[in-house]
Amino acid sequence: MEKKRKISIIGSTGSIGTQALEVIEKIHNKFEIIALAGGKNVELLKTQAEKFKPKYIYASTPINVSGVETLNNLDEIAQNKENDIILVACSGKIGLKPTLKAIENGIDIALANKETLVMAGDIVMKKAKEHGVNIIPVDSEHCAIHQCIKDISQVDKLIITASGGPFLHKTVEEMKNATVTETLKHPRWNMGKKITVDSATLMNKGLEIIEAHHLFGFDYDNIEVVVHPQSIVHSAIEYKDGSIIAQLGLPSMHIPIQYAITYPERFEGIKSHSFSFAEIARLDFEKPDFEKFPTVKLAYHAGKLGGTATACLNAANEEAVFAFLEGKIKLYQIYEITKKIFEKHDIIKVPNIDEIFDIDNETRAKTIEYIKKLI
Ligand code: MG
Repeated sequence: MEKKRKISIIGSTGSIGTQALEVIEKIHNKFEIIALAGGKNVELLKTQAEKFKPKYIYASTPINVSGVETLNNLDEIAQNKENDIILVACSGKIGLKPTLKAIENGIDIALANKETLVMAGDIVMKKAKEHGVNIIPVDSEHCAIHQCIKDISQVDKLIITASGGPFLHKTVEEMKNATVTETLKHPRWNMGKKITVDSATLMNKGLEIIEAHHLFGFDYDNIEVVVHPQSIVHSAIEYKDGSIIAQLGLPSMHIPIQYAITYPERFEGIKSHSFSFAEIARLDFEKPDFEKFPTVKLAYHAGKLGGTATACLNAANEEAVFAFLEGKIKLYQIYEITKKIFEKHDIIKVPNIDEIFDIDNETRAKTIEYIKKLI
């Protein structure tokens, strides 16, 4: 990068956002921060703003930092053509509209927000194509695939790895009675709470299949999931001729975050320690147990149905996860509730963005109502 890349981060106080700022600090002479946006963690956002000196900040609660202009909404960031790239690192549906706006303004997107593609993958990818915008995935699996693909037309299959989460080798019974603390103990990755619960039920993998379908334009039948407990192989692709290309590395989000915000260039980054095949010694792989983790099957099913099916799946699952985190339901009920709500959904085949948000709201209300009756 000859001149500094101008970047904004939506969700700078979250898990991905804070790690992105660590990356930017490490290669600080490559970036100029235009805006930082956070939610309710105003104190952290203030500290970040004082340290990184963005031009603008936005928070969902009032904030004031001397020398930094406070914005009124996320759209003001998404519309600002000073940006070369926006890292969408917030979680939840709040990421969707600013991402679309940024795409309309021709700004590249480093995408860490899952809901954007799960809720509105067709709309987002079509818009990105129309506006010639790059969408570079931050999620380790999609980032791995992005790094492996040279000529997408020659690729037959995407192979997405899953760590299997904390219950991989536990019995169904043990999983059913899992506490919130046990569920939040992910063996490999350090992430936010919602995604950690999704990793325990494997719904996270389900959502990633849907994202992969949109990002790379592959049929669901050509997207495979394999359990790989060490999380060293971040994903792989199979070419027509039988060659497999995989991307490997230690499980650290700094690497995919840096890849996404510096693409197509590479720089020396944050390394906790150096990679050694000999030290790792072995890599294990196994078939996912869809009986124990039925969420993956449900996600494939929703993905194949298309339209608003995946938005419904996402909303029902998220509300059930929240209920679990609040101690209202048990872990296995997340799937049961999601399935119940999902099965009653009338799919809109080609929805517009407002219809997607309507379905999201309706599904959440129905899920909350359903959970209330259960407890
Ligand atoms: Mg992932």
